[in-house]
Amino acid sequence: MGSKIMAKKKSPNTKDLFDQTDDIEWNKELKPLFKKYAGRKHPLEYKNLYQLLVMVVLSARDSDRNINALAPALFAKFPSMKHLAKATPEDLFPFISKVSNFGNKSQWLTKTAKEIKDDKNIPLTQEGLTQYSGIGRKSANVIMSQMNAPAEGVIVDLHTLRVSPRLGIAQGTNPEKIEKQLMAKVPQKNWHILGMSLTYLGRETCRPTNPKCHECVVNSVCAFYKEQK
Ligand code: SF4
Repeated sequence: MGSKIMAKKKSPNTKDLFDQTDDIEWNKELKPLFKKYAGRKHPLEYKNLYQLLVMVVLSARDSDRNINALAPALFAKFPSMKHLAKATPEDLFPFISKVSNFGNKSQWLTKTAKEIKDDKNIPLTQEGLTQYSGIGRKSANVIMSQMNAPAEGVIVDLHTLRVSPRLGIAQGTNPEKIEKQLMAKVPQKNWHILGMSLTYLGRETCRPTNPKCHECVVNSVCAFYKEQK
């Protein structure tokens, strides 16, 4: 067999996989994954908290690569929350017109900037961040994780939604329910690294159609892998 597990077998039911993983000490078993991704830089090339917030909002349903490409020109024109607070949504159009849903995102960002007013007022809590348009739990978790703020949740993105049931650490398709299950499996001090690790595992190894299970550092504990062998 090659280095990849092909989708030749029917995928096992994720509920069955989940039932087989009840007694796993996830915090211990996922250590190789935490070690692999500890200190990995986020793909968004931000320089400060203000830039991170803006780029996280822009990157929803778009690629990090696209947002990185337009960021230098955007931040040359609007280098801080104070500058952005003086802008109208239309002022942002020349810089973000290639971003998905740019009309709404420019409204959200200019409104948020007017409310926050200054970089030093950007909150670093779930409650504080999610009061602003375009920032949901996942975005708030990304921002808090990158800023090393005390964790209040686990980042759950499309990669996490795919990887978690395969691994057997959570089941279902609802992001909030998956997040709650992840929070219950690993102590709070590791919630940030858990979220980042599962995201990177999905980006690099646990791909949608051809997961590279033979090179996966957590294959010994993975329910999907055990079923495929
Ligand atoms: S062994 Fe790793 S790559 Fe394969 S399904 Fe499990 S988590 Fe994904």
